Amino acid sequence: MPAKPNASEEEYFARQEAERRRKLAEERQGKLLAEERERERALHSMKCPKCGMQLEEIAFGDVRVDKCFSCEGIWLDKGELEVIRQKEGSFMGRLLNVFR
Ligand SMILES: [Zn+2]
Repeated sequence: MPAKPNASEEEYFARQEAERRRKLAEERQGKLLAEERERERALHSMKCPKCGMQLEEIAFGDVRVDKCFSCEGIWLDKGELEVIRQKEGSFMGRLLNVFR
């Protein structure tokens, strides 16, 4: 029969167990957050941030604008505004002509 653990051993093992449980809880929380992020991404991907309707991707040269035909909003991805800025001055006018 094993010897009865003394008080400091009991404290040590309890602390070990608490630490193990804390790590498991953190892993569960991280997994839930990742799942929630994925759900949110799937729910909002290619949806208009203004009215919530489906966005349509329209390619114009090397710029792909996301267009909402419900509220008429036009959305740009990261870097696309810089691409437009570097193009000749009439580019924005020609882009907007696509939706006239
Ligand atoms: Zn919209």
